[in-house]
Amino acid sequence: MLVSAAHYAFAAQPPEETALARPPVAGPVEKKTNDRWLLGPLSVDAPAVAPFPSPAPSPLAAATAEGPEAPMVALTFDDGPWPGQTEHVLAVLAERNVPATFFLLGSQVERAPHLALAIVTAGHAVGNHAYSHRRLDNAPADVVEWEIVHTANRIQEVTAVRPGWFRPPAGEFCVSSYEWAARTGSRPALWTVDPQDWRDSTTAEEIAAIVLGAAHPGAVVVLHDGGGDQRQTIAALPAIIDGLRAAGYQFVTLDQLPGVKGAW
Ligand SMILES: [Zn+2]
Repeated sequence: MLVSAAHYAFAAQPPEETALARPPVAGPVEKKTNDRWLLGPLSVDAPAVAPFPSPAPSPLAAATAEGPEAPMVALTFDDGPWPGQTEHVLAVLAERNVPATFFLLGSQVERAPHLALAIVTAGHAVGNHAYSHRRLDNAPADVVEWEIVHTANRIQEVTAVRPGWFRPPAGEFCVSSYEWAARTGSRPALWTVDPQDWRDSTTAEEIAAIVLGAAHPGAVVVLHDGGGDQRQTIAALPAIIDGLRAAGYQFVTLDQLPGVKGAW
């Protein structure tokens, strides 16, 4: 049950979360079948990185030069922004003039706000991936609310953009999370192509081969720029982009893709 638009109280308003601004519930950070998330919270002392340079004005509309009739594919990146990795993903996307959609973690936006801003400045769409990446389908109601609302507010504070999409951590369906996402103005978006790039054993060649083999018109590809070591994803990205382009696909953000697969 979605909440009516009239209840989107925070749309186009400054964040007001005094009552919501409580610390996240302590507990192990989880990710289904991915033990990278069982290692505990990340160090807050993220390694220093050079500020991501503001990209030159990049009319991403040119990325649709393949023509309006070309089949569309949307690349999505989860679990960032992640210092040391998101910069590389942004650089490859900029080099090849590809728009994408990034599902940001609130905790990571707080750690690397400059990267969250760089994502938006480069013309990419952003979504809400909750705060800590803990599963929400078994979380208390107030935690679900806090994870989603706090993250939406953090993203808006840092980027001046309200996240238009919501993807639950690990894709776990949870009615209350979808309702809170709707209240913050986000629509659910899962994926249709998953090369499982977060697995340590997946090579760049495998990631690219799976994406190119499973691509279809309207595909939503889930990749990761954060959550752990994603060097194989970064290495695979040029082959993914060049291969999909050679197959005739145009790249779009989720905003531009009709009929995005959710879970309602
Ligand atoms: Zn995730």
